[in-house]
Amino acid sequence: MTRTGHQMLTRRGFCLCCVAATSFTASGAWLTPRQAFAQAKNIVDMIREHAATDPIKVTKLRGNVSVLEGSGGNIAVLTGADGKLLVDAGITASKPRILEALAGLGKDPITRLINTHWHFDHTDGNEWLHQNGAVILAHENTRKHLQSAQRVDEWDFNFPASPPGAIPTEVMTADRTLKANGSTLELKYYGPAHTDSDISVRFAEADVLHTGDTFWNGVYPFIDYSTGGGIKGTIAAAEANVAAAGDKTIVIPGHGPISDRAGLVAFRDMLVAIHAKVAALKAKGLSLEQVTAERPTAAFDEKWGQFVIGPAFFTRLVYEGA
Ligand SMILES: [Zn+2]
Repeated sequence: MTRTGHQMLTRRGFCLCCVAATSFTASGAWLTPRQAFAQAKNIVDMIREHAATDPIKVTKLRGNVSVLEGSGGNIAVLTGADGKLLVDAGITASKPRILEALAGLGKDPITRLINTHWHFDHTDGNEWLHQNGAVILAHENTRKHLQSAQRVDEWDFNFPASPPGAIPTEVMTADRTLKANGSTLELKYYGPAHTDSDISVRFAEADVLHTGDTFWNGVYPFIDYSTGGGIKGTIAAAEANVAAAGDKTIVIPGHGPISDRAGLVAFRDMLVAIHAKVAALKAKGLSLEQVTAERPTAAFDEKWGQFVIGPAFFTRLVYEGA
C-alpha cells in the first residue's frame, strides 16, 4: 500500500490498512474476505505490526473524559482521584505509547478497565492493563469468549483463550451504573448486535457515549455471526444509540472519528435501507450471488464502502441475517 494511502487510513482511526489494500484485485473486483485475509497473511498479525509503530492521538472531549485513537478500537479515558478508568484496551504492542498518552492526562494510577465486547482489537491490552492495576469489567459473554478459544469464520481466524490476567473479574448480565471520579457511568447491554457481548458506556455528566463496535463512523461495520452478532441486532443497537444521544452528546464509535447524534442517525439509516433492500431480494429467493449482482448497497458505497468491509462483503454480512 502506498504511504499516502496508509496515512489516509490511519488518520481515519484504523489500522487494518493492509487488508483494505489486498481486498481489491487489479481488476477492481472484491475478493472474498477469506481470499483477502489469506493473501494478507493474517489480520491479527497485521494489526499488531501496525500497533507497534502507529502513534496514539489524544483528544480531551469534555469534563474529565478523553479519547485515545490509534490502537485497535477507540479507547475512552476517565481521569480523577479514583484513578484512571479506561473503556477498551487497544493492542498490546501500543503499550509504550498508551502509557505515554495516559501519563499526559495526569498522575493518577490505572484502576479500572471496561471492555465493550470481546474482540481482539478491544481486549488485547487487557493483560498488561491488569498488571498495571486495572480491575476489568465486561458483560458475561465477553468473559466467556475470552476464557476459551474462539473462531471468527469471516476472518478465517482462531483466537486462543486469553491469559488469566486478561479475563474480566467483574461481569454484568443486566444494565449497571457505576460511580467513579465524580462521574456516573451507565453501562447498557445491547443484546445480540455486533457480537453477543456488546455494551455501551455513557459518562452521564460529561454527556459522552462510547458505543463500542455497534457504531463504525463512516465505514460499513463488521458483524460477527460467529459469536452471536447479526444485522437485525446491529440495527436494534443503532436505534438504541440514536435514542440515547441528545443534541450535545459526544459519541465515541468503536472505529472511525469522534461523532455525534447526526452521525448515529446516518449510520442507522444506512443499515435500515440496505437491510430492507437485501431482505426483499432474499425473500424473492435470490441467492447471495444474485443479490450481490443487484448492488443493493450502491447508493451508500461512495461514503461507506471505502474501507475493510467493502460493498460485496457487507452485502454478504447483511444477507446472512436478513
Ligand atoms: Zn468488534
